[in-house]
Amino acid sequence: MLGQRDFDTKLYYYNLSLDRLVPEDHLLRRIAAGVDFSFVRSLCRPYYSHTGQPSVDPVVIFKILLLGYLYGITSERRLAQEVSMHLGYRWFLGYDFDLPTPNHSVLSKARARFGPEVFETFFRRSIDLCREAGLLEEGPVYVDSTLIQASAAVDSLVRKEDRAQPPLSIEEYVQRLYAENDPGSEAGEEPPRSSGPASPGKRSGAGSGRLQRPNQELQSTTDPEATLVNRPEFGRHLAYKAHVAVAGRRGQVITAAVATTGATADEHLLAEVLWQHRRLSRLGVPEVVADAKYGTGPNYLYLDQAGIPAFIPTTRFGNQHTGVWGREHFTWLPEEDAYLCAAGQRLRRHSNMTGTQRVRYLAPKGACVACIFRSLCAPSGIERALHRSWALDLVEAAQDRVAGPKGKRRMAERKTRIEGTFGLAKELHGLRRTRFRGRRWVQIQLWLTAAAMNIKRAVRRMTTKGRPAAPAMLLSRLLTALVKGLVWSASTSLSKA
Ligand code: SF4
Repeated sequence: MLGQRDFDTKLYYYNLSLDRLVPEDHLLRRIAAGVDFSFVRSLCRPYYSHTGQPSVDPVVIFKILLLGYLYGITSERRLAQEVSMHLGYRWFLGYDFDLPTPNHSVLSKARARFGPEVFETFFRRSIDLCREAGLLEEGPVYVDSTLIQASAAVDSLVRKEDRAQPPLSIEEYVQRLYAENDPGSEAGEEPPRSSGPASPGKRSGAGSGRLQRPNQELQSTTDPEATLVNRPEFGRHLAYKAHVAVAGRRGQVITAAVATTGATADEHLLAEVLWQHRRLSRLGVPEVVADAKYGTGPNYLYLDQAGIPAFIPTTRFGNQHTGVWGREHFTWLPEEDAYLCAAGQRLRRHSNMTGTQRVRYLAPKGACVACIFRSLCAPSGIERALHRSWALDLVEAAQDRVAGPKGKRRMAERKTRIEGTFGLAKELHGLRRTRFRGRRWVQIQLWLTAAAMNIKRAVRRMTTKGRPAAPAMLLSRLLTALVKGLVWSASTSLSKA
């Protein structure tokens, strides 16, 4: 028989409480049991006056923010609505059915009131929580970056000099309007150039123009600190960049998070990210694992001086022109500090290039003009030059390290650990797009996202630690061990054969 549910709200309920409605194993219950948020009050105390009406408890504010990052609710208005409607959220915050929950403006005011150090301390506390849960231990540090789409459209880009100009008077504005709507241009005349006067909304069509260095010439009116990035996998967007380090047990803990503009080159941030990792996690860096973007001479030199083995693949060194001999066609003579070419000439040290941290080696004057290898080695006939990075020995050592079994394992781990962290942050915790405008606020978003992810992992670890493994899990572990054993025995018998 077809059922029908009629609904009419009751005025009174018997034997009903929020506590009974929240499931026993709910994440929020685990967080409430595992995290003591009272430290937030002492952290925020300097930002409140000692007189006046009592404010909303800062613990409540941070818990609301945490809910937004845990469940990927990116709008503070919607978050305030969700908090009011969701019984589990009310229970977590300590607001019973009949109490009004804080307005969304409380969140934005609190963000403006608290300094960045408050949010950084909150993030640091999440790392400490991971330590208490047994997730943090000294081991390889995985470093990488990801782009975050800014909350600003490409159409908001205008030329910087246009922004610097004072606002137009009414007379100038009318003149510009006439100039732009000149009927002559409709009759097939040349349209005004993009550098000329244009309407404020799409001034000069700057967002779509071809520019050599768009970020030096253009600026967004919506978010001036966001920069234009054009990548096949990302598209053409205004963006920021999150530089992150993960470490600990199976790389589960985010130990550093630095926000920069989208155009910042990754390799320049390696030292900063490692410093943040050390400062916030109080752990050393026994190994660094990163992708080829970080494989630059200055980074290898820095890591060598710091005594940190690098598992960083290198980009191709040597001559990038196809068809022209690269450095591999020359023999390095360390005792003479020179290269020997195929024609028996020595390319001797010519100059030290401090800007690019390379040494320039040059063939003897006039040696290449009549050489039989000229077309392959120096087509112009000018003396052939070679550049040797100050860090070349370190680069070669890193290449050997990455090619070894440990290096291959580290590279495979990098993919799952740090790229997996970015995937989760974007899919579940709202890091695909910035919530706020300005690098300072994006940094706060990054700290809070990282804190939410750390807290989630720590409380899961706390509540599953010591719990007997489920039969299905045991069976899967058994099968994995069996498969590994079979693969190992097959590879051993093959190598013997
Ligand atoms: S072109 Fe110059 S550098 Fe190259 S092989 Fe000939 S002499 Fe040597």
